[in-house]
Amino acid sequence: MNCEFYSPASIDEAVAMMKDGCAYFAGGTETEHLNSRVEASAFILLRGVAGLTGIEASGEDVRIGSMVTFTRALKAPGIPEYFREALHFCGSLQKRNMATIGGNIASWRCDSYLIPTLLAAGAQVELADETGRCTMPLEEYGQKRDSLKKALITAVILPSEASGVKVLSKRYANTVESHAYLTIAMGKKEDAFRIGLAIKGSGIFTPDITNWGVSWKMADVKDDMFGSEAYKRYLTGTTLDDMYEKLSGEGGDQV
Ligand SMILES: Cc1cc2nc3c(=O)[nH]c(=O)nc-3n(C[C@H](O)[C@H](O)[C@H](O)COP(=O)(O)OP(=O)(O)OC[C@H]3O[C@@H](n4cnc5c(N)ncnc54)[C@H](O)[C@@H]3O)c2cc1C
Repeated sequence: MNCEFYSPASIDEAVAMMKDGCAYFAGGTETEHLNSRVEASAFILLRGVAGLTGIEASGEDVRIGSMVTFTRALKAPGIPEYFREALHFCGSLQKRNMATIGGNIASWRCDSYLIPTLLAAGAQVELADETGRCTMPLEEYGQKRDSLKKALITAVILPSEASGVKVLSKRYANTVESHAYLTIAMGKKEDAFRIGLAIKGSGIFTPDITNWGVSWKMADVKDDMFGSEAYKRYLTGTTLDDMYEKLSGEGGDQV
């Protein structure tokens, strides 16, 4: 890698260093691998930036700093079980030790380990950029990603089990180490349902539960080496039906 590295100590310093051609560097698992899609002439190293590694569970929310690794989150007390399940979707121990929660969200991959579950849970992201700091739903972050390319994700906030949220997630892949061709999650809080889908080669989708069939029909789902469009649509439909049935069960007992 022939480029410059900057080493800020604080969130404000990191944000001030972000310029055209720069990218943040967290665990480096996405940035450093062969044929990485991350192109930059300078990297802003997030390791060592104060305020990005806390995990705070308070009442109905859990706030996880963006530099928390998968391994650390898996070992921490207070992490909701539904999120632990998604963290386990990353089967490689080496990757778990390096990969960060913020890096996973920022990558917004179509085979994402975490995003479907976080969307289904109604998670929020905390952001910092030259305009200041804000918190927004992850779904909104996904829609505005083009204009938020320079934003630093400082934390993700997810509802704890004490909030009454229930989330089911399912990952379809040939092996635990293979890329997922479908990752599907559905969450329920009170009477509201949310869906998060990651479809390899197609993208991330958040179809509305009330007319999900309509929005789903418009989604661009491709035939590829992982399966035909018809197969992926069938699998998604039956998985969502099953999740809906389980989450709608009397008092959620079946979940
Ligand atoms: C062999 C291999 C297979 C993989 N398979 C999968 C897979 O199936 N599913 C999957 O989801 N991931 C996969 N990954 C990618 C990766 O391991 C994870 O997505 C990981 O969580 C990325 O986190 P990181 O800290 O390593 O990010 P980095 O590599 O450091 O950064 C990734 C991107 O996010 C940006 N970024 C990082 N942190 C922040 C932040 N706090 N704020 C804003 N932008 C930020 C960086 O600029 C860069 O563009 C794979 C990686 C490898 C090497």
